[in-house]
Parts: sequence; structure tokens; C-alpha cells
Amino acid sequence: MTKFDLGIIGGGPAGYTAAFHARTKGMSVVLFEKDKIGGVCLNRGCIPTKAILHSAELYEEMKCAADLGISCEGISVDYEKVVERKDKIVEKLRKSLELSLKNSGVKTINAEAKIIDENTISANGEIFECEKIITATGSTPRGLKNLNFDHEFILSSDDILNLKKLPKSIVIIGSGAIGTEWARIFSAFDVEVSIVEIAEHLLPLADIEVSKRLERIFKAKKVKMYLSNGVEKIEDKKVYLSSGEILEPELVLLAVGRKPAVQSCGLALGDACGKIQLAHFAIKQAAAEISGIEFDENLVPSVVYGCPEIAWAGVREQDLEEGTYKKATLLISALGKSHCDNCSDGFIKILSRDGKIIGAHIVSKEASSLIQQIIIAMQNGIAIEDLKKVCFAHPTYSEGIFECLFK
Ligand SMILES: Cc1cc2nc3c(=O)[nH]c(=O)nc-3n(C[C@H](O)[C@H](O)[C@H](O)COP(=O)(O)OP(=O)(O)OC[C@H]3O[C@@H](n4cnc5c(N)ncnc54)[C@H](O)[C@@H]3O)c2cc1C
Repeated sequence: MTKFDLGIIGGGPAGYTAAFHARTKGMSVVLFEKDKIGGVCLNRGCIPTKAILHSAELYEEMKCAADLGISCEGISVDYEKVVERKDKIVEKLRKSLELSLKNSGVKTINAEAKIIDENTISANGEIFECEKIITATGSTPRGLKNLNFDHEFILSSDDILNLKKLPKSIVIIGSGAIGTEWARIFSAFDVEVSIVEIAEHLLPLADIEVSKRLERIFKAKKVKMYLSNGVEKIEDKKVYLSSGEILEPELVLLAVGRKPAVQSCGLALGDACGKIQLAHFAIKQAAAEISGIEFDENLVPSVVYGCPEIAWAGVREQDLEEGTYKKATLLISALGKSHCDNCSDGFIKILSRDGKIIGAHIVSKEASSLIQQIIIAMQNGIAIEDLKKVCFAHPTYSEGIFECLFK
């Protein structure tokens, strides 16, 4: 039997962050990972999708390069290479993470672990005695009651990462961040994309104006949207919608959420705890648990990548009672930089009460960075009048926040 101060099951963002923090505090740590270090985030989520998305965005930009005075004729996509590049990035980052864990003195065991009781873990036929146990076992793609993955025609977000060639057409069921990002990737690569969403609007968790703007952007890109529509069944490669329409795509991506992978005891962190399923939430939770670095769970940014990016934090306008808040909106086209970048679609919307920001919703290039500036102000209760005194560089997207404050 081997003894450790901390036993961690799962080597994703929650698990490895907890491990690093515990080692900094001088604890002995054993980390179990049954698959690949880095978890979903590094191997099947955040990183691989953004790597493919970057290729898609570059291709999309090159299609209109002539408008920018650049001639590039005969451009084409070698999708196998796109996927190969993604694999290389993932492998490089994983090796570096494995090395960091080793160098910081974390004992890593590549095996499925099982909790026996609150201080005992078994793995590889060995018993590990741990003062404390954390389960950071993540989550897995969820099917629907009447619909599951067959991994050939109906694909999960894991399956879709390893396509060898682009389909001619795809139906994406679910328009959360995962469905939306893949819709952006495929439509940039000229795949015929249809999105089926049971809610009235795309991105149902977003502010209503953000959802509507995304619908406008998708319409311009000829992405077909079937809103307020469920999938009744899929038979013989036909997708039957509740509206009566029948779609016949080459592939289906089922992206309707993820279910937490739970173990009977141990403290659950990250996706496994069933709260917010985002890598940065998992990381902050782990840091809070081990090092006591507090954070506000109501101020976790949501980001949807692609062009333009979408990001938000705090309350949504549709959840507020009329007359209880102030609203300021700035169109991104008002910013000089957006025209220089050929990316002037979008807006910054700031909701405030009693002179302080309570919510922000952004559709813009660099929205993922802009939202951080607003979160810093929100978390520290900085008054709008004080934010107005900050000097923002010109020309930038940040100055959009500044200008919005004067609206
Ligand atoms: C397509 C996609 C795109 C995403 N994009 C983003 C994004 O852009 N930004 C963002 O913030 N989030 C994104 N996410 C979500 C993000 O990946 C997760 O929130 C994050 O990975 C959760 O971290 P975690 O450590 O809780 O779990 P995971 O990363 O899921 O790690 C859990 C690990 O535990 C291991 N494990 C499970 N059971 C056992 C066991 N019994 N023994 C040993 N090991 C075990 C698993 O193999 C896994 O490696 C995305 C997810 C997907 C699917």
C-alpha cells in the first residue's frame, strides 16, 4: 500500500490544477488518468476545436483576400492536414503538461481508478491510501431519450474531431457553444450546415440580442436554422423534425450537452460536479479548493469562438425587470479598428444598475479578451464613473467599452 496526502482521479484541468496547487503547498500527490493527461479540454475539447477553427477562419479570410488587395487564387482545403495539425498541437501541449507534472513531483498513474472508501483508491490492482480524495472525472457527451450516437452517422463531439474528410452536408442538433463553433467551422469550409434547436433562438443561454445577432450572421453565411424544433427520430439517414420537415445530411452531430461522470464519494471538482462545464471554471474551482483563492461563481465568462467571437458575463437583459436597469450599446462598426480588420459586425452591450455594471454581452472580434476587462471591473465593484477615467489605447476594440460607458 502507498500513502499520499492527496489522491486525484482525473487528469483534466480540474485534476491537474489541483495537483499543481497541492504540490506548491508541499503535499504528496497521486494523480490517476485512465486515458490521456489534459482531459477533454486538451484532447477532445477546447484546444483541438480551436486549432481546427483557426484553419477554418484563415480559409474564410482568404476567400475574400482580394477585397484587401491580396490575390490568392486556387485556394483549397486539405482537411486531413487540418486534422494532422490539430493532433500535433494537442500532442505538443500534452507532452509539456506531462513534463510539468513530473517536474513538480506529482506521481501520475495511467490507469482507471476506483474509490473504495473515503480514504482509499484502487488502480492497477494496487491500493492507495489518501488523506483526501478529489474526483475530477469530467463529463461525457449526452444523447437524447430517443436518440443516441452510432458513431458513424450520428456523431458525438469526440467523433467529429477525427473526420478524415469534410462532409458535403451536416445537421447539427443543439446550438450551445459546441454546436455553434462546429457550425462556424463547417460553414467556413463550405459544408452545407443545418442547425436544429429546440429553443426559440440559437445559443439559448445567451442574452436574446446576442442570439438574434448570431442568427443574422448565420443567415448571411447560408447556415440553415430550424428553431423551436425537436428531432422526432433519425431513420435510414433521414432526420425527422417536429415541424414535419425531413433533412437528409451526410452526417449528424449531436451536441445537446454533457453528463457528469460521478464517483460515489470524494470531493467532485470541474465538469464532474455538475455546475458550470467550462475549463476555466474547473481550474478556478481547483485553485479555490486547494489554495483558498476565492472567485465569484456568478462572474464566470462564457465564450463562443469563431468570427466574430461572442462573450458574456453577469445578468442577461431578458432576466431583468423593465425600469430597474440602464442599458448602453455600441456598434462595433463605430470603431476604426474593426474596419481596418474587415470585421465590423457586432456590438458591446453593457447593463448597469446604481452606476455599476451588472452584465455585459459582446459580439466582436477579441470578445474573449474584452469580457475580461469588464469582469475585472464587475468583480471589484468599480463604478462606471471611475472606469471612464481609464485611458484605453486607440485604435482598439477595448475603446469600444470606454465609448459604451458614455452612451
Ligand atoms: C468540443 C468541446 C469544446 C470545448 N471548448 C471549451 C472552451 O473553449 N472553453 C472552455 O472553457 N471549455 C470548453 N469545453 C469544456 C471543457 O473541455 C471542460 O469543461 C473541461 O475539460 C472540464 O475539465 P475537468 O477537469 O472537469 O474534466 P475533463 O477535462 O473531462 O477531465 C476528466 C478526466 O478524468 C478522466 N477519468 C474519468 N474517470 C476516471 C477514472 N475512473 N480513473 C481515471 N481517470 C478518469 C478522464 O479520462 C478525463 O481525462 C469544451 C468541451 C468540448 C467537448
